[in-house]
Amino acid sequence: MLVIEYEPWRRMLEHTGRCYPEEACGAMLGTREDELRRVRAAVELTNVWPGSRRTRYRVDPRELLEVERTARERGWELLGIYHSHPDEDPYFSRTDLQEACPWYCYLVLSIRSGRFTAARCWQPNDELTSAAQVPFCVPGAASEEEKCQGS
Ligand SMILES: [Zn+2]
Repeated sequence: MLVIEYEPWRRMLEHTGRCYPEEACGAMLGTREDELRRVRAAVELTNVWPGSRRTRYRVDPRELLEVERTARERGWELLGIYHSHPDEDPYFSRTDLQEACPWYCYLVLSIRSGRFTAARCWQPNDELTSAAQVPFCVPGAASEEEKCQGS
């Protein structure tokens, strides 16, 4: 279960909308208590994929290291990565799976015509052969579509 606080949620929607029609990516920082992960901050990362960024993303490993350090300084950890699917559903693609790290969770946001429509959170298995949906909620979100997904 993932709880995404409202401020980082808004930030992710704004960021992924702004990058449309390219894929946006970023980091989710927060805390973990047993099975409950709480996202307290979202940090934008640069999509450094050298080809068309409309259908792919790649995070900059140096940026990611920096974000990890920031998280540690706040007593948090890097919980996962978010990225957008412009005009596509928020599924976890084969490439998403191949490039994943099993210790992170992955939030995929579907952005259609520049607007958020749906999101799903995914947890890859250790072998990176499949990913399971992780329920998440956004307490305080404005609409039902935003509030609880995949639960
Ligand atoms: Zn993807």
